[in-house]
Amino acid sequence: MPDATNRLFAVACMDCRRNLLTVERIRDREIAVLVDHLRACSARERLGDTPMLGDVMACVRVAAVAQA
Ligand SMILES: [Zn+2]
Repeated sequence: MPDATNRLFAVACMDCRRNLLTVERIRDREIAVLVDHLRACSARERLGDTPMLGDVMACVRVAAVAQA
């Protein structure tokens, strides 16, 4: 595996700024974690029963993490 693919993304909540996930890829399971946090954390009523990915991502901050 080339090192170039070895990249992580840190996903943080925009409201409380807590780091929620550090993952290689954001998949359904990760989205579910984010939705759970956003529902518990924020006063936002944006997220419905089946939130769109764009709505979820609008509530979090994603940053690339350089691995040592
Ligand atoms: Zn939060």
